[in-house]
Amino acid sequence: MTGRFAERMRDKKVRADTRIVAGLAAIYCAAKHKDRERLPLESDASRLGVYGRRVPKLCEECAAHIRYAEKRRAYCPRDPKPFCAHCDTHCYKRDESEWQRQMMTYAGPRSMWHGYAIPGIKHALEARKWKREMARRADREARSAGNTNDAAR
Ligand SMILES: [Zn+2]
Repeated sequence: MTGRFAERMRDKKVRADTRIVAGLAAIYCAAKHKDRERLPLESDASRLGVYGRRVPKLCEECAAHIRYAEKRRAYCPRDPKPFCAHCDTHCYKRDESEWQRQMMTYAGPRSMWHGYAIPGIKHALEARKWKREMARRADREARSAGNTNDAAR
């Protein structure tokens, strides 16, 4: 673990995001990998106490994905971080982002019953704000492109 990782994990938002992703992965893993041995996650973030006493239980495969996700979150160059799904900095490897998409699609809607109702609602509100912002930006760009065309005529 680098000092930079530990430093980034002191950020409240980074810690909260990390806990949510690992918590969702635990929901996914408990449902999809019932037959596997699932142990409290051992990772850089868990060693730093990021998960407190609620250390998510994961199988070895899901644990590896979450160790990867912890690093990506810690080293995210964007501040504020947009939703990964809407971000144009593709910092995830393709198979990792595919795993995360599948995991979120399964666990996201179910997280309401697992104590993640508030992050879930916040996420939905932020997503709506983001979509509106993107629509506004596209609109602005379309309009300024229109103006340049007018000027050229
Ligand atoms: Zn698993």
